[in-house]
Amino acid sequence: MRVLMFLIGTLALAAVSAAADAPAREYAKVTFTDPVWIGGTVLMGEYIIEHDTDRMARGRPCTHIYAARDRRTPVVTFHCKHLRRPTSGQASVTLRRNYNVVGHAYLLTEFQFAGDGDAHGVPGIRGVPPVR
Ligand SMILES: [Zn+2]
Repeated sequence: MRVLMFLIGTLALAAVSAAADAPAREYAKVTFTDPVWIGGTVLMGEYIIEHDTDRMARGRPCTHIYAARDRRTPVVTFHCKHLRRPTSGQASVTLRRNYNVVGHAYLLTEFQFAGDGDAHGVPGIRGVPPVR
């Protein structure tokens, strides 16, 4: 499985709260070359992962994933589980083999933006309730 991930910009679109060391809304572009399950949805191709802490503060799903060619409607949304991780200079996604499916298939377990000391865990993977 080859995952191509590159940061397309960490954009502070909303006012950044005083204590925050990361902008409220962050993005990364990812290319999945094999099928990747997120909850009940299968993704393959180019996507934009967007995380928004303001949305989280309003009780809405903090993570939206959009097809790279259509950013109007997310293909997947979920409430992530925040995980402490060493700060990384590069954005990354973490995948696990999906043994429920024949062939090359993966589960997204978490993602992390460049420069952040937090990763964002996908629910249903690490003992938190599954995506609804
Ligand atoms: Zn989150």
